[in-house]
Amino acid sequence: MNIPQSSYPRVVIIGGGFGGIALAKKLSKKDVQVVLLDKHNYHNFQPLLYQVSTGGLEPDSIAYPIRKVLQGYPNFFFRLAKVTSVDTMAREVKTNIGEITYDYLVVAAGSETNFFGNKNIETKGMAMKSIPQSLNLRSLILENFEQALLTDDLHERDALMNFVIVGGGPTGVELAGALAEIKKGILPKDYPDLDTRRAQINLVQGGDRILPAMSEVASAKAERFLEELGVNVWKNIRVMDYDGNYVTTDTKTIFETATLVWAAGVQAVGIKGLDAKEFLCRGNRLRVNRFHQVEGFTEIFAIGDVAQMESEDFPYGHPMMAQPAIQQGRSLGENLVRLVEGLPMKPFVYKDKGSMATVGRNKAVVDMKRVKFQGVFAWFVWMFVHLYFLIGFRNRVVVFINWVYNYIRFDREARLIIRPYKKQNQELKNQLNRGS
Ligand SMILES: Cc1cc2nc3c(=O)[nH]c(=O)nc-3n(C[C@H](O)[C@H](O)[C@H](O)COP(=O)(O)OP(=O)(O)OC[C@H]3O[C@@H](n4cnc5c(N)ncnc54)[C@H](O)[C@@H]3O)c2cc1C
Repeated sequence: MNIPQSSYPRVVIIGGGFGGIALAKKLSKKDVQVVLLDKHNYHNFQPLLYQVSTGGLEPDSIAYPIRKVLQGYPNFFFRLAKVTSVDTMAREVKTNIGEITYDYLVVAAGSETNFFGNKNIETKGMAMKSIPQSLNLRSLILENFEQALLTDDLHERDALMNFVIVGGGPTGVELAGALAEIKKGILPKDYPDLDTRRAQINLVQGGDRILPAMSEVASAKAERFLEELGVNVWKNIRVMDYDGNYVTTDTKTIFETATLVWAAGVQAVGIKGLDAKEFLCRGNRLRVNRFHQVEGFTEIFAIGDVAQMESEDFPYGHPMMAQPAIQQGRSLGENLVRLVEGLPMKPFVYKDKGSMATVGRNKAVVDMKRVKFQGVFAWFVWMFVHLYFLIGFRNRVVVFINWVYNYIRFDREARLIIRPYKKQNQELKNQLNRGS
């Protein structure tokens, strides 16, 4: 990997997400050599992925070059590398571009979509965990409408304009709300020769309320907001399968749709070599102690979505959200410095700053420790918080301008099919057919 040897201890970080970047920033001016490995050369601001999928934001505005975050720090090295395994005996990380040894290893690889073993949903449904996936979804939504214009088959047309979003957490709610706004404000203008009133947005939730991690008042209000926007909210229904045309459930309800979006679960990214039963918890997370040390190791740490720090308040670890990842990254940064200096580490204490979700224009729900509120003010708070945590001044300006423009014009101008999704898939299928 061409990383120079140094007299400083080497900290290898796997993942430049919220946790990895917060940690690297804390260590950047300290007496350690930091090597950050990520399979992408950018940080992905996942909370705004749904806006990319629905043409509200350009993908570049929610991505930020990892190299730029830590420019000018002589002890910091970034390598574009996909980590394949860890040899804990040899203290070595193996990647697609070579190996690197570590003194301290931090796993901050985040999470991936969990399809719970359903291959049909995995291959025929859409996930929204990365920027390329969001662009695929954007293309698919728009291609569906283009195709709906061309067919005389009413049945097929309805299926092309029928959207099923599985999972009533913030991702599902935000996506459903955005699609409903497109249906209301944009489709009738873009497709005057198509009866877009027939488009249906279905949000399917296995439990008895949406946003189950938030307060009951937030759930109820978000549901009302969605219904006002025309979203069909289905509760207590579990999606069982999808064959590319029909979604079957554990009830008699069947949806016919050309688009199923799976937002019903995530699991920690698994790293070979760090998969022993003793420390692997539910959802693939690595069990860590209060100092983020993976059980059984003193030199291997885990933070963010990948880590499960069990406590009385959080028996299954902290929520898989940006705040815990950022706070853990900062805390571990301080602790690693203390460790190197021979000082005792300080246990991590999570400061819960609350949670929020937006449903659409002027519609959001915010739960804070002492106060819960919904509506216009919540929506402004949601926007402010997202702008604040977005990395990069330019990104903040671009997102802000986009939001103001979209608000004033009731528009989402990034509804572009830059990389056709269906066509690409068709070509792949053709190639496979030719090969077989
Ligand atoms: C659609 C969506 C919406 C969300 N909305 C919110 C929200 O509103 N509020 C909120 O708090 N949270 C939200 N989250 C969750 C939040 O984004 C995550 O909890 C947070 O990103 C976790 O941070 P992390 O540092 O653990 O991992 P991540 O930020 O996911 O970073 C992991 C990094 O590891 C890299 N990586 C993974 N595997 C490898 C490998 N093998 N080799 C090299 N690099 C690797 C990835 O490329 C990535 O850069 C949302 C998530 C999604 C998907």
